[in-house]
Amino acid sequence: MARKTMIAGNWKMNCLQKDGVDLAKNIALKVKNNKYNCEFLVCPPYTLLYSVKKALRGTKIALGAQDSHQSDKGAHTGDISPQMLKDIGCEYTILGHSERRTDHHENNALVAKKAQAAYANGLKTIICVGETAKQREDGETLAICAKQVRGSLPKESNATNTVIAYEPVWAIGTGKTPTAKDVEDVHAAIRQVVAKKFGAKTANNMRILYGGSVKPSNAKEFLSLPDVDGALIGGASLKADDFLAIAKSVC
Ligand code: PEP
Repeated sequence: MARKTMIAGNWKMNCLQKDGVDLAKNIALKVKNNKYNCEFLVCPPYTLLYSVKKALRGTKIALGAQDSHQSDKGAHTGDISPQMLKDIGCEYTILGHSERRTDHHENNALVAKKAQAAYANGLKTIICVGETAKQREDGETLAICAKQVRGSLPKESNATNTVIAYEPVWAIGTGKTPTAKDVEDVHAAIRQVVAKKFGAKTANNMRILYGGSVKPSNAKEFLSLPDVDGALIGGASLKADDFLAIAKSVC
């Protein structure tokens, strides 16, 4: 199975109803008018999932959430379950994003539990890993990413239900990026960790996205690397033109 390039937008805590629907419609229009050979995914905040789903009707653009709980329902004020996301039409849920690991103290074990609950409800996951600036300075990048991959992907993960996103924490929203060689080295190392845990076939088929200040001007450099299978895009996914220009650089 060839790894199909994924172009995924993480809208984070942005967009009111009108902005979100306009953005989704704009992306849908541009995707429809061009022949892109890649899988598109948009992950708006929860408040926009229903209206963005409607705006994307008739397109192949997938809908995802930015997090989901490890339980199906119950006394968890403020949380959203994978069952609810499936019900509203989501196909994916992002798990273990560094902003959740930092803001909500999420660890690998919790991410793995969330992933199990997501799979049990028919959702696919984008599981994020990546080192902090300090860990990078200390030469721990590969060890940290390996630990996060081993700990955050449960035994049920496979190449169909799981996508990994390598996102160096220091590159998210900062305009800073690693070199292309650094990105390829980390992706290749992550693939080896996946091979050790899940076997060579799964590792060969599992997509690994790069995320961290991807924009139209640097997308090609990263997206043409052999072990990079797409991008998870924050800031640049909020402008349809930029989001599509990133896709155009490879798809
Ligand atoms: C992200 O939050 O997943 C991300 C990669 O953000 P940005 O593209 O803005 O760095």
